[in-house]
Amino acid sequence: MLPWRENISVYVHLPWCTSKCPYCDFNSFLRTPSVREDLYINCLLQDLEEDIKLAPGRVVSSIYLGGGTPSLFSSELIARLLEGISEKVPVRESAEITLEINPESTSFRKLEVYKRSGVNRISIGVQSFSNDVLTALSRPHNDIEARNAILLVEEVGFENINIDLMFGVPSGTYNSDMLDLNEAISFQPGHISRYQLTIEEGTKFHVSPPKLPHEDAIYRSYSDGLELLKNSGFNRYEVSAYSLSGRSSSHNLHYWRYGDYIGIGAGAHGKVTIGKDIYRTKKADSPTLYMKKLKEKRADSEKRLVSEEDALIEYAINITRLTDGFELSDLYDKTGIEPGSHEVDEKIIRAEKAGFFERKGDVIKPTKKGQLFLNDLQLIFLN
Ligand code: SF4
Repeated sequence: MLPWRENISVYVHLPWCTSKCPYCDFNSFLRTPSVREDLYINCLLQDLEEDIKLAPGRVVSSIYLGGGTPSLFSSELIARLLEGISEKVPVRESAEITLEINPESTSFRKLEVYKRSGVNRISIGVQSFSNDVLTALSRPHNDIEARNAILLVEEVGFENINIDLMFGVPSGTYNSDMLDLNEAISFQPGHISRYQLTIEEGTKFHVSPPKLPHEDAIYRSYSDGLELLKNSGFNRYEVSAYSLSGRSSSHNLHYWRYGDYIGIGAGAHGKVTIGKDIYRTKKADSPTLYMKKLKEKRADSEKRLVSEEDALIEYAINITRLTDGFELSDLYDKTGIEPGSHEVDEKIIRAEKAGFFERKGDVIKPTKKGQLFLNDLQLIFLN
């Protein structure tokens, strides 16, 4: 068995939030008093029990509890969930276990319980330290809560911490973007994810677009941000992900390297390779429907076979995000395409000719131009 096939990751979707952010296109829902979180946790474990049958013999190398706002759940339920997962599947002792938290729903006690229950990486949805920006983004927290959340996470003793930041946002400026980044770096979190706001279909911002900073200011924020992160010791290992040495996210790297994962929870996606066949799974988006199906023992997640053509697209869309690139043998191994494919060669040569890829021995890497024009690079694999 090839090493990458020995591992599997688990993504757990916890879909509720205190309010819906106007830019959010995630599968998230308003939390109401009628939500039975305990029953949802039971469903997640039932869901895992079903899906893990697709991947017998695999060992879990990372678990990611994302949302939504996972920190809205009681810490005892999170502990029960993690205990239940490790009862149902073998989890490596070294597994990275990440929990997303939002500043408004964080407390010292909750964090202590998370830590005791095995969570070893915390990802904090800060987005900005400016109240003007947080208000314009309708975030349910303020700057003080953002700083307190980071300090609490550090005080409880988490060493592996990510801070999420956004730039190019309404009410933001070049100066506020750089102040945000400087402040995030001053906490020495080990990992920073820095995203430019994009207006997605189906969001409130898509219906009534906010006024955004001028594109020149956004570009300056982006490029000066790259420089500042680099000079502060952060390595850009993915388009939006920066880490100090040894702090890159192994769970996210697993996705970007086209590894296999089980996705449990409302709207969760999964990917499992069986022999040469790649399957995608997808759960019902609505938490009510998701829970109903499981209650009726209809754990029939949609399962579809991925064609070779789609596997190549999926592989390329993920791997081109990584600054370290990939080996051609890895592409063939993970997509199931016969080595020496004319179609693969043709696309790679096109990307090289456009100045998007460079080869060093067996490794193919996106160039600086390829990173900057990532959409154009990815389009080569879509056409
Ligand atoms: S907190 Fe996160 S998941 Fe929830 S609505 Fe806002 S952006 Fe979406």
